[in-house]
Amino acid sequence: MTQLASLTKLLPTYARLDVTFTDGEGSYLIDAEGKRYLDLFAGIAVVGLGHRHPAPLAAAQAQLERLWHVSNLYFTEPMQELAQKLSDRFGGSQAFFCNSGAESIEAALKWARKATGRSEIVALEGSFHGRTFGALSVTGQPEKRAAFEPLVPGAVFATQETLADHVGPQTAAILLEPVQGEGGVHPLSPAVLAQARALADRHGALLILDEVQTGVGRSGEFFAWQRLGVKPHAVTLAKGLANGLPIGALLVADDAPTGFEPGDHASTFGGNPVACAAACAVVDTVDDALLEHVRSISDLLAAGLSQFGEVRGLGLLLAVELDTPAWPVVEAALEHGLVLGSAGERTLRLTPPLTISASEVAQAITLLTEVLA
Ligand code: PLP
Repeated sequence: MTQLASLTKLLPTYARLDVTFTDGEGSYLIDAEGKRYLDLFAGIAVVGLGHRHPAPLAAAQAQLERLWHVSNLYFTEPMQELAQKLSDRFGGSQAFFCNSGAESIEAALKWARKATGRSEIVALEGSFHGRTFGALSVTGQPEKRAAFEPLVPGAVFATQETLADHVGPQTAAILLEPVQGEGGVHPLSPAVLAQARALADRHGALLILDEVQTGVGRSGEFFAWQRLGVKPHAVTLAKGLANGLPIGALLVADDAPTGFEPGDHASTFGGNPVACAAACAVVDTVDDALLEHVRSISDLLAAGLSQFGEVRGLGLLLAVELDTPAWPVVEAALEHGLVLGSAGERTLRLTPPLTISASEVAQAITLLTEVLA
């Protein structure tokens, strides 16, 4: 047990590293002793514009001065604006707002059941969709589910190769991550995604993409499905949407069944004005120039990482497969002032701010070379 872990009053659901961060600035974090760290993790793909980016900061501050909360019995301007901006990016959608990725999956599962009158959800082995009961039930990692069974019935797990064997007239939805993030950074093949859409259409099922991690520019397009070339019936978003304020969203395509009626689903804090105001600023900032930057800086980072092992991923959701365990590398990197993530036994996961510069990437590669020396 670390020194801090032995003192804390927090329940031990996380293996926390022994550091307390107090400040953030662009691609850097600062700890309670004033030490600076280059942040290649961004709070697990959340702080996409970097810490304290002026656009969401100003939008959230302005909204804090006006109105914090009114409940979903009324409209607010930030919520309406965000739904419109996301619809414009999606190509026509309606939004349900909540507060996290798992909640966006819960909304998607209920929507799929209501819209189809069916209960079966086909998900992939190795997938990750969250820790609440519904989201955990469709997470294809048995070791995460085992201690909490019985879970919500109706989940069916396939591989990319066996998807067609599991989809039929009983299927409510096919739920896929464009890139499996927690499961080890495994991109979905565009051909399998096209097959999933065709299977869904043939059987009257819905194709839902979980873009909680890949969405809001991380893939190098606003939605990863735009890079893979197949539009889903619905997407879920969360992590990067408000650059660190809690938010989640389910977007349902205008040409998909609406499913929900008043009373079917709700969230007291969902659509919070401050989070939505920040998210509007984020969506405006993730423009063509930033998306182009993500694609080119991704190539630069991947090239630098390739000396350490096989590199996988899309945009700025990248992994390096090491030939040693990853967690000790994450710990050693922290000592060297570099924040990294892991996703599996030997997999380093890198999800830096989308705004990371070429010189910061060069600094990261130098630090990683020292760590792995
Ligand atoms: N879906 C995906 C693809 C995720 O990566 C995550 C979290 O890592 C979730 C859902 C759950 O999100 P949250 O932790 O905000 O509940």
